[in-house]
Amino acid sequence: MKTHHESARAIPVARDTDVVVVGGGPSGLAAAIAAARNGAKTTLIERFGFLGGIATAGLMANLNGFRNQVEPDATQTVRGIAEEIVLELKKMKGLGGSPYQQKKYPDEPAKMAYSYAIDTEKFKYVTLKLCVDAGVDVMFHTWFSMPVLDGRRVRGVVVENKSGRIALMAKVVVDASGDGDVAARAGAPFWSSTKGGEPRLGDSLMYRVRFGRRRPKGLGGVDLGSDMIVWGPFSKTIDGTDADAVSRAEIAARLGVFRNFAEMQAKHPELIDATVAETPVMLGIRQTRFIEGEYRITGDDAIKGRRFRDSVAMSSCPIISYYGYRRYLKHQGYSIPYRCLVPKRIENLLIAGRCISSDQRAYESHRAMIPMMAIGEAAGTAAALSSREGTTPRRLDVGLLQRALTARGALIRIPAA
Ligand SMILES: Cc1cc2nc3c(=O)[nH]c(=O)nc-3n(C[C@H](O)[C@H](O)[C@H](O)COP(=O)(O)OP(=O)(O)OC[C@H]3O[C@@H](n4cnc5c(N)ncnc54)[C@H](O)[C@@H]3O)c2cc1C
Repeated sequence: MKTHHESARAIPVARDTDVVVVGGGPSGLAAAIAAARNGAKTTLIERFGFLGGIATAGLMANLNGFRNQVEPDATQTVRGIAEEIVLELKKMKGLGGSPYQQKKYPDEPAKMAYSYAIDTEKFKYVTLKLCVDAGVDVMFHTWFSMPVLDGRRVRGVVVENKSGRIALMAKVVVDASGDGDVAARAGAPFWSSTKGGEPRLGDSLMYRVRFGRRRPKGLGGVDLGSDMIVWGPFSKTIDGTDADAVSRAEIAARLGVFRNFAEMQAKHPELIDATVAETPVMLGIRQTRFIEGEYRITGDDAIKGRRFRDSVAMSSCPIISYYGYRRYLKHQGYSIPYRCLVPKRIENLLIAGRCISSDQRAYESHRAMIPMMAIGEAAGTAAALSSREGTTPRRLDVGLLQRALTARGALIRIPAA
């Protein structure tokens, strides 16, 4: 490939802060709220003009994972910021009907059901309001470009936006980009199922259907009253870190939307006067890089319900399709160890969200957005404490982190099964 040499130049330092969170999806927004609430001066950068990641930009309007989807499901395994967001949405009448089979629990704190469909506009509002109220400095329309490195220590990030190329210096950076962009560009080791040949989850473009005079029943989508979200055209499984591949897949999926909708209308004539009301900002790419951390959580840990001493979050979600079927857990939940959030080799960096250190099968469980928020909350809290204590995330006292999480209502352990 031909190369072009960029010339070195001085760029403005636009922020000198405690914590920078890259990416405002479910994990990043929870990380930013948690970091700010724990006293850190926090900047959150997001490439779009709203928060939510796949939940909003990907139109995947269904949050899964407060408890096991099937029995034994007596114990709620995530609380904290995720619960707060869903209860705020409930106050605003911002919840719809989840398509997932689940037991109904009385809607009150600590009695959350497995899954909630969300009004995406109200979700954008609630999450932004929580960030602003916590004092997070939100920078929209800003792309992460490169880490600022001093050897193996991250000192901040270089970003691009309408102001040009600017640096944001920070004591700790949380990589919540989904793809592990910061960690990978900093030189942290990672693996990618696209390259490794393991079976992986495919990618889909969701879209919103607005009903006409009739409101058909039993279509299986996310039920939002007058609208529903449909699992739309599937593209091939692509490498979501290859910009050309993403463009090609996005083009193919978008050109397939109306054909896909016509096929659905043919199967369900009651949709005859329904319309495609909205396509998402981006194709939903389920997985890309997994950053190698101090521990790699495994499918065996998830299936056996393993509990770790450095637990900072829990998951009880099924492993969705590795075995060719949805494998439900036969226990109440397993722990996510803090070590999965600490990348090997690179200092002052934490990873949150779907790129944490995990094998394929465990990922297929904790990838659901409710555990993602719990993991984000843990990463943001750890970043704030590391900055306050003048230490690195790797050396942070995990007991201190666990106490801080518990004090703010996060659930990091459940009684042994
Ligand atoms: C098609 C599909 C269907 C799914 N179905 C469900 C479901 O029904 N229920 C459920 O709970 N989960 C579901 N999931 C899984 C879940 O949505 C993801 O695992 C979860 O959103 C991951 O959260 P995250 O915060 O790690 O990443 P993301 O949600 O991907 O958020 C990453 C954020 O970072 C931003 N970003 C990325 N790169 C940069 C950059 N360089 N600079 C600035 N910003 C950047 C993005 O814009 C985005 O806002 C689904 C996922 C997909 C793709």
